[in-house]
Amino acid sequence: MSFETFLDPKSVAIIGASREKGKVGYEITANMKNAGYQGKIFPVNPKATEIAGLKCYTDLKSIGEVPDLVVIVVPAAYVPAVMRECVAIGVKAVVVITAGFKEVGKEGAELEKEVVRIARSAGIRVIGPNCLGIIIPSAKVNASFGAAMPEAGEIGYISQSGALLAAILDLAMAEGIGFSALFSIGNKADVDELDVIQALGQDPHTKVVAGYLESINDGDGFVREAEQISREKPILLMKSGGTSAGSKAASSHTGSLAGGETVYESAFERAGVIRCDSIKTQFDYAQAFAYQPLPTGASVAVLTNAGGPGIMAADAIERVGLTFAKLSEGTIKKLAEKLPASANMHNPIDVLGDALADRYEFALRVALDDPNVETVLVLLTPQAMTQATETAEAIMKVRKERPGKPILACFLGRAAVQGGVAVLGKGKIPCYDSPESAVRTIKAMVNYVRWKNRPKRVVKLFSVNRHRVERIIDRHLRRGMREIGEMEAKEILEAYGFVTPRGSLATTADQAANVADRLGYPVVLKIWSPDIIHKSDVGGVKVGLTNRQEVRDAFDLMMYRIPQEVPDDTEILGVLVQEMVKKGREVILGVNRDPHFGPLVMFGMGGIFVEVLKDVTFNLAPITADEARQMLVSTKTYQMLKGVRGQEGVDIDAIAEALQRLSQLVTEFPQIMEMDINPLVVGPPGTTPIAVDARMSVEQLKSR
Ligand code: ADP
Ligand code: MG
Repeated sequence: MSFETFLDPKSVAIIGASREKGKVGYEITANMKNAGYQGKIFPVNPKATEIAGLKCYTDLKSIGEVPDLVVIVVPAAYVPAVMRECVAIGVKAVVVITAGFKEVGKEGAELEKEVVRIARSAGIRVIGPNCLGIIIPSAKVNASFGAAMPEAGEIGYISQSGALLAAILDLAMAEGIGFSALFSIGNKADVDELDVIQALGQDPHTKVVAGYLESINDGDGFVREAEQISREKPILLMKSGGTSAGSKAASSHTGSLAGGETVYESAFERAGVIRCDSIKTQFDYAQAFAYQPLPTGASVAVLTNAGGPGIMAADAIERVGLTFAKLSEGTIKKLAEKLPASANMHNPIDVLGDALADRYEFALRVALDDPNVETVLVLLTPQAMTQATETAEAIMKVRKERPGKPILACFLGRAAVQGGVAVLGKGKIPCYDSPESAVRTIKAMVNYVRWKNRPKRVVKLFSVNRHRVERIIDRHLRRGMREIGEMEAKEILEAYGFVTPRGSLATTADQAANVADRLGYPVVLKIWSPDIIHKSDVGGVKVGLTNRQEVRDAFDLMMYRIPQEVPDDTEILGVLVQEMVKKGREVILGVNRDPHFGPLVMFGMGGIFVEVLKDVTFNLAPITADEARQMLVSTKTYQMLKGVRGQEGVDIDAIAEALQRLSQLVTEFPQIMEMDINPLVVGPPGTTPIAVDARMSVEQLKSR
């Protein structure tokens, strides 16, 4: 079936329709009827002849035709039987409102699986169970037990929480916000967020896709699809709840730093999805995206009748990184022709407290005509002579004449501006309760435009030695080893073009001294043990050894001390003698694989303070050169790396390249679960970063 059946069903059957007011089975029937639906409604209830004035049927078969959509409200235990009836007569689209499935435990989960099995065997798509239903205002369908039917509009909504959707509906009714469709997806047994987002992406009535999600089933698919849709329509999502990647106990620095939210931040950014932290923010954004044209850039002009709010807006513009528009000479001259001499002709344009609607109208026109202005924010405070309603009408008039640039409004106060706010609402000029909310919304629009205009993503492929990596990983997995230690992790990195310090293993003090002689001094001694992950913690790293004697002493000391520090079954194999790397800045690169979204690469400040300062960033692999650079720039460490107060900076491009190579490695080897390169020592421009320490964990690939 095509998903469109849900968006425009020609007939709807309600199984479990009830005569009793207040029961879900009644409310849905009444809602369907009162929505003004033009198609046929078939209440099904073997005990009733009529419900809400509609003829009632004993079962699906007795209807005598196949309803486009079947809404099921009967108790959970009976749902499979109804599903079989659906199969028997050839129904293709079902909404299961009934609760008591996966959300109540094992038995419910089994029942839910049964429903899905029956549906899939016949190609039926099922929304729910345990949901509020669906509302399609454009088709006048209200197959939900929500309290009201919103106006038809441009926003398509999807919610994983029925209760939250009810709240959103209520708010939308109060504010007069319209929807193209609302989907409550409940337990997502069959139809999931991706199905609905795709459908709304294609739905001609939907201009903005918005929603509330708690989990995303297929992370990979979500990013791919959402990225496609975002090119055409903005997707605004509230997301709560963490991911398994963050909650899993992690042994690597990278794993412990990858919080539950990290992966969603990266995935949303990649897909152009605009994240909203509250219902209010989501509505703020949704109205602007639905009703206003997109800005061409970041430059904002503010039009106000009071100084204070103008300054508040200016501060907010600065704070979020928008540009305070510099008005052209022509604009200033034109404003001066009609505004009183004491008005401010520069941005923020202050038309003064005694401004009537005509002054606003004039100034708004002039501001919109300025080529340096890309968005206009109109502020109004109710002063003695202020004409809130007339000003709102004037704004709408100018809007109609000049449709190209976004206009947002903020009418401060409440009682005195009510009339104006209502006019703006009807005229689809989004009106905000504070300059900050308006400015945040403009910022979201500008970010979206930037995302849309970003250069095509091209991931650079380096020539590498995959075979060598394969051999090392296979060898570990064959022996059931999940951890790859420093020596071999570095071999893997070398195969992907990283430089690592020269060095060899030694099992006696003499051997260590001989290796050191060969390498040349100074050298570093490191404990070699498959069981010790953080070597310094147990005194297992000694740097700056300058002669044979020091090497021998360091060896003896490690062999004496470390066994006292570690658990009894720790296997100590010897030491790694390593060339000492020239001092530089220490950064950390890492990898953490999310079970739903795939590998994330990390960059941050390295060394022992990694976990304390948490100055790290993540992005989904594979990354482009631009994304690698953006990762660096987004950290505080970047300022230091660039060089501050006369201190020489480091080779930024070289770090960005290392990140891309790492990203290629984990993309090509899905066996790699986690990885730390800590530290990567980086030097001044022209020098090559050196991976001084590395470790990774691997897992057998699940055969598909
Ligand atoms: P671990 O992280 O397991 O404690 P590392 O190999 O990262 O061990 O060593 C700890 C610190 O010692 C590094 O952060 C680095 O400052 C220094 N170090 C280690 N190896 C070298 C080397 N070859 N050259 C210079 N400094 C090193
Ligand atoms: Mg280390």
